[in-house]
Amino acid sequence: MELFDLSGRVAVVTGGNGGIGLGMALGMARAGATIVVAGRDAAKNAAAVKQIQEAGAKASAIPVDVLKEDSCRALVADTVKTHGRLDILVNNAGVNIRKQPEQYTLAEWHTVMDSNLTSAFLCSHAAYPEMKKGGVGKIINIGSMMSIFGAPFATAYAASKGGMVQMTKAMATAWAKDNIQVNAILPGWIDTALTRRAREQIQGLHDNVLKRTPAGRWGEPSDFAGIAVFLAAAASDFVTGAAITVDGGYSVLG
Ligand code: NDP
Repeated sequence: MELFDLSGRVAVVTGGNGGIGLGMALGMARAGATIVVAGRDAAKNAAAVKQIQEAGAKASAIPVDVLKEDSCRALVADTVKTHGRLDILVNNAGVNIRKQPEQYTLAEWHTVMDSNLTSAFLCSHAAYPEMKKGGVGKIINIGSMMSIFGAPFATAYAASKGGMVQMTKAMATAWAKDNIQVNAILPGWIDTALTRRAREQIQGLHDNVLKRTPAGRWGEPSDFAGIAVFLAAAASDFVTGAAITVDGGYSVLG
């Protein structure tokens, strides 16, 4: 199906070495894309590349720390050097520091904002000229339920993820003329390393999510394969500036 065919496309996934990022990477790999796994942890990067290659796709890893501007720029430059092009950028790397707002230090605030939001700006900024040159581009930004809701332990995280949606809209309007679509995915509660830590820190979280999610389960990284393929493929060429929830109905339960 041409609409969902990613053959010949090159996709960079920040934080693609585990969790939701790897779920999306595997989906795009199965649709034919070459994947660049961009994380900090070399062992996780290598394991993810192996898993993607075992799924039959081309993959490589580029170590990156998205907190550093040079590292984001080198990620794009090295991708183009190795694979000749960059068509798809998934801004997925993210962290959370769970504390009440009054307990936050400025350094902690910057860590969360810079990891989640500034990194997406930097990687997109670096990717834009390459996508423009190639004549097509797909940027997929990962938001959160905290793009919509608030929570006492998520001041910086919610600010970063709310900002991600607004940045998505602004970039979408700027780059539509270049045939670059920019969209956001807002995951519900997904079983990953990030939320395993949350479940240790927030009493009752596991059961509360189950109760509150109409689908009656936590999400899995593999739940993000389909939406990633859609937003990376020609099927979504007239979809831009959207924020799509993938949450088993969590955000629409009244
Ligand atoms: P994980 O902790 O499994 O993944 C986070 C990823 O981000 C890791 O691959 C990590 O790579 C990477 N990362 C973090 N900081 C950096 C950095 N400075 N430089 C490079 N890579 C970095 O969690 P998830 O899969 O759950 O999270 C993925 C995204 O989804 C995040 O943006 C998160 O906010 C979002 N999200 C998750 C939800 C959930 O329920 N799980 C819900 C809503 C949103 P490494 O280990 O190599 O540092």
